[in-house]
Amino acid sequence: MKSSPASVPDDIEFAGELLRKAERTVVLTGAGISTPSGIPDFRSEGTGLWAHEEPLEVASLSTFRTHPERFYEWFRPLATQIFDARPNQAHLALTRLEKEGRLGWIVTQNIDLLHQKAGSSNIIEMHGTLATLSCTQCYQKVNSLPYLKPFVEEGKTPRCPNCGAVLKPDVILFGEQLPQKAWFTAQRASRACDLMIVAGSSLEVLPVAGLPMQAIDRGAHLLIINNSPTYLDVRADVVLHANVVDIIPAIVEQALNG
Ligand SMILES: [Zn+2]
Repeated sequence: MKSSPASVPDDIEFAGELLRKAERTVVLTGAGISTPSGIPDFRSEGTGLWAHEEPLEVASLSTFRTHPERFYEWFRPLATQIFDARPNQAHLALTRLEKEGRLGWIVTQNIDLLHQKAGSSNIIEMHGTLATLSCTQCYQKVNSLPYLKPFVEEGKTPRCPNCGAVLKPDVILFGEQLPQKAWFTAQRASRACDLMIVAGSSLEVLPVAGLPMQAIDRGAHLLIINNSPTYLDVRADVVLHANVVDIIPAIVEQALNG
């Protein structure tokens, strides 16, 4: 770390100072910002959701192509949690920051739409989105809401209004490429920012985990808020191993009114 303030309140004050001075801030969010809203971490073991099926297999493009019903059966509890989830104080603080004109982009690894529900607009969804579904046959794209409700409530597999084929959520499954436009926009934003805030990501999933490196290599400050250590803790200006819900609102408040 370039500086080591002695306590959490000092760290928050210093982080708020960095945020107040920054002109182009990018926030990278991961599962840790959504777990306080009741959405289990996709990739961590022992969350129940992953207990019966191997996610790498069932949430893969090949399983979806060959056995979409297996995918949907596995996906239903998660979709239900996402459908019911409400944004938390960390999401809302980022929205406040954006509305004050102090936040450039939210780059998110999440597919749960909680940044959207919180009212944020400049969102880059690296792992796709649950907001839309696409037809696997005729490529028709539809808004997911009218399909998700019957799916969550009755288990009805979403089917294309055009041709009747199974619709696929526009989320990135294992074995799928990241959406190109999102990836390029995120890289450009990361290289141009002067402050990168990592919020609730352990920076374990490439290539998204490399974005903060692109930022600091070009002179940006780095602030990391995550429950567990990351590979970039040693290069961050401030590291807070804490829950984002406790920290982000405090930092935003400090930056706007401190
Ligand atoms: Zn179709």
